[in-house]
Amino acid sequence: MKKPTKLFLMLFLGCIIHSYSQISKEEIIISKIRNEGFNNSEVMARLSHLTDVYGQRLTGTREYYAAANWISSEMKNIGLENVHFENYCSDCRGWSLKSFNMEMISPNYMHISAYPLAMSKSTNGIISGEVVSLENYQDMNLVKIEFSGKLKGKIILLGSEPKKKSLLDTITFKFSKRDLDKKEKQLSAEKKQTPLPELFKKWEIEDKSDDAILQFLEAEGALAIMTTRPMYLGVLHPDGTYYYRNDDIKPLPYFTIMPEHFGRLFRLLKLNITPTIRLNLDTEFYLEPENNVNIIGEIPSNDAQLKSESILIGAHFDSWHSGTGATDNGVNCTVLVEALRILKTIGYSPKRTIKIGLWGGEEQAFLGSAAYASQHFGKLDEKPNAESTKVSAYLNLDNGAGAIRGIYLQNNEFARPVFDNIFSFIPNITDGAVTIENTLSTDHETFDYYNIPAFQFIQDVMEYRTVTHHTILDVLEYVNENDIKKNAVILAWTIYSLSEMKEKVPRKQK
Ligand SMILES: [Zn+2]
Repeated sequence: MKKPTKLFLMLFLGCIIHSYSQISKEEIIISKIRNEGFNNSEVMARLSHLTDVYGQRLTGTREYYAAANWISSEMKNIGLENVHFENYCSDCRGWSLKSFNMEMISPNYMHISAYPLAMSKSTNGIISGEVVSLENYQDMNLVKIEFSGKLKGKIILLGSEPKKKSLLDTITFKFSKRDLDKKEKQLSAEKKQTPLPELFKKWEIEDKSDDAILQFLEAEGALAIMTTRPMYLGVLHPDGTYYYRNDDIKPLPYFTIMPEHFGRLFRLLKLNITPTIRLNLDTEFYLEPENNVNIIGEIPSNDAQLKSESILIGAHFDSWHSGTGATDNGVNCTVLVEALRILKTIGYSPKRTIKIGLWGGEEQAFLGSAAYASQHFGKLDEKPNAESTKVSAYLNLDNGAGAIRGIYLQNNEFARPVFDNIFSFIPNITDGAVTIENTLSTDHETFDYYNIPAFQFIQDVMEYRTVTHHTILDVLEYVNENDIKKNAVILAWTIYSLSEMKEKVPRKQK
């Protein structure tokens, strides 16, 4: 081959330099984020540590606090600054489960698959009693007429035989392209948001809706309560009770049992055969307000003009008590931490300060995020203060462990171009569907109420709504590592993009 001439070499080099210069700043950042997020990911290891070592993180408990200490040390280790706790509740009590067992001992033996509801009292040793069915308990007058004086020493089967579901039912759900397309084309947010104070009032009433029956059963001398939840066969779903304030009642030993076992006890009673149950439950109540903390941290900005502004990201850190809170919501806490680890590792110095809040007490009524907002952005019933206007956007993650497929605009159409643009850079990582829809029931509602642009991502549902949400199956096995690596990369890129924007994310006109 002929030796290339000098001119040819210069042209060739010029071409290379030229083509490199075509690579945008954004592409370089994305490439660094991808490399760190896909090749050096720490997200699964951190989630395993959180869920396997620390386990459940029920509001108010020592277990929550131990896990909070650990995750805050992880946040310091990855280089976050100003990592600290902020207390969110002075009278949220703790409740720890020490041991329990439940068996049917007559007409023959059956071990009952059961789990106590939170805040249940102990039995103080092994007890036994006959089962009484209390099918319709909504009308307390009727209950009193039928059951007064008949429940002493009994174990109550509360509710009716659950509807049967097939073990062949689909339990894993992913959005199809068509589903996402439909979401994008939605013209208005169908689900209405309830203003926070009203919402909290409504929940308080709902959460205590079994108050009258619980007090009646206790006064009548019943020993314990068994119920079941309309869930999939074999699954225990012991969310509740919601008696988490220190002066709330402490319910009788109160269990959810597997739908199949509930069904058998229920049918035996219909056949006029009275089962006898033997059980024990050992629990401990305590008031240790120091357990009730939000975990806060940040990557500060060095930008002279924008450093007083921030991007706030959050996920709730508390869980229910029968699983290990892997899909709800340990996974998303570790995804957020991983997204910030990625940004720190690639040496990103943000324009706006990036703040993270891992909230406590979400399962009770957004206790953690509401306390944070009221402390930083003004009381719930007052106009949001000037500090709230410095938050460009709030991003929330709390829809299980499924892959991110897009984002809910929460009825903020002005933000559509922002997210269309962000997702346009990463088409092979997420579909990037942007929908006007509202999604409800988690902490972004808090910040939306303060008119901070607040968003939740669209995530594949997977097994969340069928078998893991608030159940005994909320464990690591239902988390897909590839999905959560992707989610951390999407978050890192989204946080970066929001932090770099010239203007803040547009707010809803209220
Ligand atoms: Zn949750």
